[in-house]
Amino acid sequence: MLAISLLPIVWSIFLVVFAAAFQNATADAAATCKAHPTRPDWPSRADWSALNTLIGGGLLEPAPLAAACHRTHPSYNAARCTNIKANWASSEFHAHHPTSSLWTNVNGYSCEITDTARDCTTAGFPVYVINATDSRQVGLAVQWANKNNVRVSVKSTGHDFLGRSTQPYSLSIWVHYLQRRVYHAEGFRPEGCGFEIKGPAVSAGGGTQMEKLNHFVNGHGTSVIHGNSNTVSVGGYVSGGGHSTLSGLYGLAADAVLEVEMVGPTGEVFIANECQNKDLFWAVRGGGGGTWGVMMRVTMRAFPSVGQATWRGTIHGPAGSNRSWAAISAFHSAWAKYLAPAGATGYVTGHAWREGKVTVQIYLPGARTEGELTTIMTSVERQTRAAGGEMSGVGTYRARAASRPGSPMTANDGPSMSATGSRTFPGNGQNKIVASWLYGARELNSPKLQTALMGASDTDSMIYQDFTGGPGCAKPPFMRGGGNSVGQGWRTALVRPAAELQWQGDNENTLAKRKAAAIKFTQSLASLNPDMGMYVNEADPETEGIQKAFWGENYARLLSIKRRMDPSGVFWCKQCVGGEEWQYYQGGVLCKR
Ligand SMILES: Cc1cc2nc3c(=O)[nH]c(=O)nc-3n(C[C@H](O)[C@H](O)[C@H](O)COP(=O)(O)OP(=O)(O)OC[C@H]3O[C@@H](n4cnc5c(N)ncnc54)[C@H](O)[C@@H]3O)c2cc1C
Repeated sequence: MLAISLLPIVWSIFLVVFAAAFQNATADAAATCKAHPTRPDWPSRADWSALNTLIGGGLLEPAPLAAACHRTHPSYNAARCTNIKANWASSEFHAHHPTSSLWTNVNGYSCEITDTARDCTTAGFPVYVINATDSRQVGLAVQWANKNNVRVSVKSTGHDFLGRSTQPYSLSIWVHYLQRRVYHAEGFRPEGCGFEIKGPAVSAGGGTQMEKLNHFVNGHGTSVIHGNSNTVSVGGYVSGGGHSTLSGLYGLAADAVLEVEMVGPTGEVFIANECQNKDLFWAVRGGGGGTWGVMMRVTMRAFPSVGQATWRGTIHGPAGSNRSWAAISAFHSAWAKYLAPAGATGYVTGHAWREGKVTVQIYLPGARTEGELTTIMTSVERQTRAAGGEMSGVGTYRARAASRPGSPMTANDGPSMSATGSRTFPGNGQNKIVASWLYGARELNSPKLQTALMGASDTDSMIYQDFTGGPGCAKPPFMRGGGNSVGQGWRTALVRPAAELQWQGDNENTLAKRKAAAIKFTQSLASLNPDMGMYVNEADPETEGIQKAFWGENYARLLSIKRRMDPSGVFWCKQCVGGEEWQYYQGGVLCKR
């Protein structure tokens, strides 16, 4: 009996020791590895120079952004450093740098801004970068990388919470300046289809930032599905799914895509839509960024801008008490009952444990009056107060954006970022981990909801619930080609609950503790229904079985498309489709398992 009960413990110890040993093993034992600067197959300087000539010049070998602040680094420059420090919290600042990311923990602390006494190396970043201009140039570069066994990664803004856009020891295709936009007023004719998809649409370069795209279509009296950040780009947003305050009506951004132009892993250019390259068209709409190739252009549906009722307020109770959590939990259940069926969306954010208070922002796109939302809110407030907390707020109404062509105000203004035009966001330029899951009506009505929510954050993290699912995600009105690869959880999801962990510094112990906390938070959220899964763009990169959690039953098809399109893993990241088939060995050498 004793032997049996100890078995799981002994087995866990073995697994931990085994896993550690495996990661420390050298790559020599592995048959297939990607080129690495420490290995003989890494292209010589002459080879890189040949690539530069091949693409007509412009190959970059950038130092990390913080290098200018490190006295021992050749690019040390005190004046530049002052400017870098002043702008470190700006999303746009990192987007404008070829290899920088918004979160310091995703690059292995290899060149820190907070600790400039520490070594600064490119170990956590791509080695070379191509500033993408057109499909031909990108195609030549990817073909060269494929031939030379060099990994390729894709960076647009570097906003990614999972660090997928700044892969170490890779050639990076930097798509930030692919921001060309073309409006199709009456309809769009997908290549090779022989018919037109009626209704307004917009084609945008793969690096177009959502604010610019939305302003562009606003000028035509229309909107696109766009999220809670001005500076996120269409490349990562659409390929991961892309939720919005308009998702309750129109679904996810990936659900509104009509066509993509991609440079694939062999350097070949594909136009994917419902009539040609259908597998790729299915995979790239939800199957994750940086996996299928480089998205050069995406065409998506636009739709007439609508009016919107808004309600802003708070829920509060004694800090850290059962009463405040009961009220927060009751609000979640009320959402499923009253707000979701109406197509409402919104956000609940705050330090619930520390302050016992959260901020609530609710949107009802398509409403004709403020009263449409405030009437619903009467029931929501009643249910929340009945659980013992306070809830108060104010409703407003915003008329159709279409009546003010070019106005930056649109139906899908989210909190903080879009509403204020700010380019900073909580935790920008610091460490960040997002621990999240998806919940539908069933989970929001679970008697265990309060326990799951209470276990999913702590006094050092903020809750950030995106109530951006709903009827539009269940039946996306603009979906083409019979469906896409977005995880099935989104089809019943009403909310993407999350804890956001953010902190300063580069202390490895703190990082380990926060990583452990994030895993616990995700597990607490997932305990209500493991099958709902997580949202590809907003999740803890260390989640066990991450591919299954992202794509569920779609994963088998995604993996078979990936194996067929990219058998040698030109585009790879740990959290991407096929991520589990490769592994880092000592020194960061990447080899096939
Ligand atoms: C402040 C903030 C607010 C956010 N709000 C929302 C929200 O409201 N709704 C929502 O759904 N998400 C939201 N997100 C998450 C956002 O969708 C992801 O961070 C997304 O990955 C960012 O994409 P990007 O292209 O800007 O960033 P990057 O970090 O540059 O890229 C992200 C991923 O996409 C890949 N990629 C980018 N461009 C291309 C391309 N052209 N071709 C191929 N692969 C490409 C990269 O390789 C990487 O894997 C938010 C993020 C932040 C930081």
